[in-house]
Amino acid sequence: MSFAVYLRAQNTDIYSRPVQVERSHDYDVLHYRAEFSFDIAEKQLLGSNRMTVKSLRNDFDRCLLDAGNNITINAIRDDCGNSLEFSHREDKLMILLQEKYKYSDTASFIIEYLASDPENDQKIFYDASENYPAMIWGPNFPNRVRNWMPCYDYPNDKVTHEMIIHAPEGFKAVSNGALIAVTPEDSGGSVWHWKQDLPHSTYLFVLAVAPYIIFEDSLGDLPVNYWVFPQDSASALNAFGRTPGMIEFFNELFGYEYPWAKCDQVMIPPMGGAAESTTATLYSNGLIVNMDEKGLKDYSFDRIIAHETAHHWWGDLITLRTWSQTWLNESFGTYCDYIWTNRVRGKDEGIIDLEGKKNAYLNEAHSKYIRPIVFDRYELDSPGQNFDRHTYQKGALMLHLLRSILGDDLFFRTIHYFLHKHAFEPVDTHDFMKAVKEVTGQNMDWFFEQFFFRPGHPVFEVSKTWDSSENILRMKISQVQDTLHGVPYAFRIPIKIGFYTLDGKTVEQLWIDEREELFEFPLNEEPEMVKFDDDGLLLKELSYNQTTEELLFSLRNNDIIGRAEAADELSGYGLTEQVKNTLVTAAQNDASWYVRRAALETLGASAYEKLSSLCKKMVLDTNSQVRASAIRILGDTGDNKLVRFFRKRFEEDESYMVQAECLISIGKCGSERDIEFIRTAGKIVSTRNVISNAASSAIKKIEEKRQVLAVGKIFKY
Ligand SMILES: [Zn+2]
Repeated sequence: MSFAVYLRAQNTDIYSRPVQVERSHDYDVLHYRAEFSFDIAEKQLLGSNRMTVKSLRNDFDRCLLDAGNNITINAIRDDCGNSLEFSHREDKLMILLQEKYKYSDTASFIIEYLASDPENDQKIFYDASENYPAMIWGPNFPNRVRNWMPCYDYPNDKVTHEMIIHAPEGFKAVSNGALIAVTPEDSGGSVWHWKQDLPHSTYLFVLAVAPYIIFEDSLGDLPVNYWVFPQDSASALNAFGRTPGMIEFFNELFGYEYPWAKCDQVMIPPMGGAAESTTATLYSNGLIVNMDEKGLKDYSFDRIIAHETAHHWWGDLITLRTWSQTWLNESFGTYCDYIWTNRVRGKDEGIIDLEGKKNAYLNEAHSKYIRPIVFDRYELDSPGQNFDRHTYQKGALMLHLLRSILGDDLFFRTIHYFLHKHAFEPVDTHDFMKAVKEVTGQNMDWFFEQFFFRPGHPVFEVSKTWDSSENILRMKISQVQDTLHGVPYAFRIPIKIGFYTLDGKTVEQLWIDEREELFEFPLNEEPEMVKFDDDGLLLKELSYNQTTEELLFSLRNNDIIGRAEAADELSGYGLTEQVKNTLVTAAQNDASWYVRRAALETLGASAYEKLSSLCKKMVLDTNSQVRASAIRILGDTGDNKLVRFFRKRFEEDESYMVQAECLISIGKCGSERDIEFIRTAGKIVSTRNVISNAASSAIKKIEEKRQVLAVGKIFKY
C-alpha cells in the first residue's frame, strides 16, 4: 500500500498521561477462599473472603488491600476469631493485624462484607433484557475484582483460590478451576464449589451466575464446556465447537500442554468483545446471536475464540507484570489468531488477515497517535488505555517480523522455552528478550529497542532508474519518518527486493540501517516490475511511483496483496481503455476474492460506463464479500429502477451479509412503497441480527429522504 501521508498527526496527547510504575507490595497473597450469596431483589452480594498472605518483610503488622467503595465491610477476624481493626477509604482497605509477622511468616484473616452495584462503574447485578436473562456477573478486567471481593488487585502477584457460590434457584455458577462439588440447598438453589489450584492473577478471576445451559465438550480428559443463555442454545455448538481443536493445535505450537483444569466458554452481558479469564473465557452476549451454518460463513468468530484460547498461555500462564507490558498478553493473542486463520483457512486468508492488522495499526497511527508498544503512561485507574492497536496489531506484526528474522525453528524454540521458564510467573519484555538470547545466542536487543521501546514505523520513499547501457538497476531508498517522540531516525530492517520479468522473478535480500541508501543491481534485462518489500513483511508506509505499465503487470502477476494494491492504485492513474479492461478482467477472473473486490471497488469509484452491467454480473460471484460489494456499488447510484433487482437478489442470495446489503441498497434507492417489503424481510432471523438491523437502517434512510423532499416542497411553495 502506498501512503502519501507521513507521521505528523498526534491527535491524542498520550504523552501527557502520568507515568506508572509497577506496584510494590509487602506481602504475597497465597490463597483466597471466598464465599458468595446473593439477594437479587436488593441487588446485594453477601461475601466472605478468607485470605492467606505471606509477609515479605519483618514487622509486617498491617495489610493494605483493594476494596471498592461499593463494598461495606461488616467484620474482619483472624483465625482465632479476634476482631481486627481496619479502615476503608475510597478503594483501599487497611487491616491492622494483631501481631508483627516476620519475613516469610503467613497470616490469615477473614473479611465479611456486602457489595452492591458500584455507582460509576460496571454493575454486578443485571436485570433481564431482550438479549440476556437476569444474572450476576462480577467484572474482572483490568482492576474490577475489588468491586466484589476485597483482594490484592494487581497482576504482579499470582494466587490460588476457591470460590464457593450460592446460586439462586434456576441459576448455575461458574468460576475458575475445577468444579469440586455442586450441592443442593433447601432454598431450591445450589452451592457451586470451584477450586483454582494453579496460581494466576486477580484480573482473571471469574464470578458469573445465570440460568445457563451447559453444552459439554472435551479434548481427551479435559472438559471443554460452553455456558450459554437459554436463548442462545441453538448457537452454542456452531459458535464454540472448534475450541477443542484449537487447544490441541496450540498445545503443539507452544510446546506446552494446556495446564489448566478445564476450558469453559462463558456468555456474559455486553462488555465489548471477549476477555480471557483462566479456564472460563468470557464472551459478550451479542457475539453468538443466531449463529447458524449460514451465518458462520460470514460471521465466524474463530479469530476471537483462537485469540482468547491462546491467552490461556499468553496472559494466564505467563502474565504481564505491569500494564505497560500489555503486548506479552495481547500481541501474542493477536498473532495466534493469525496463525489459526492461516492454518484453517489457508495461506491466502492468512496474508489477508495480516494486511488487515497492518491497516488497523496504520489507521490508529494516523488518526490518533503513535507510541512505543511498551508504554508506561496511562491513568492509574485506566490501564485499558494501553489496550489499543499498538498492543494488538502492531505487536502481532512485530512478532511476525521477529519470526521471519529468526526463522521458524528458533522462533518457536524461544516460545517453548519462555513459557516453560516463566510458567505461572509475571513477566516483562526483558524476560522475553533474555529468552531470545538464551535460546538463539543472538542479541536482538536492537530489535526490541527499535520496535517495542520506541514508537513509529518506517516511512519509505523509494525511486529507481534503469541504466540500459550497463544493465544496472539503481534504487534509492530513503526513510523519511518524522522523529517525534523518539521515532528512530533510521530503522534497521531487512528488505527483500523482487525483480519480475516475463520468465519469473529473482529476489535480493537487503539490510538497511541508514536514512538514505543507494543500491545497484546488475540484471540481465530490464524488469517488468521491481517490488519493494517482496514478501510484504514490513509494517511500513511507502511512496514509490510506478508506471501504469508496471501496475498493470502487478495486477496480473503480483501476490494477492500486491494485486489488490495495484488495483487500488490504478484508480489514481486515469482509466484508459487498457486499464479498464485489465481491471474488469481482474474483477471477474482473479483467483482471489480480495483482488476481485479491489478491482471492482476501483471501477466503482471511477466513472466506468459499464459499471452497472458489471456489478449485475458480479452479484453472482462465488464470494459473499465480492457480492456485497457489487450490491453496495449499485445501491450508491440511488437508481430507483434497481429496487426490483435488489429484491430478487435478497430472495436468491444465500448469505445474510449480502441480503443485509440488499436491504440497505433498497433503502438508498427505494421509496415509501418499499417499506413494507423491507419490514417483512427484516423479520428473517439472522446471525447477529444483521438483517433486522439492515432493515431498520434502510427504513430510516427512506424516511430521511421523505423528510428532505417534504422540506423541499415547503420552500417551493
Ligand atoms: Zn486479548
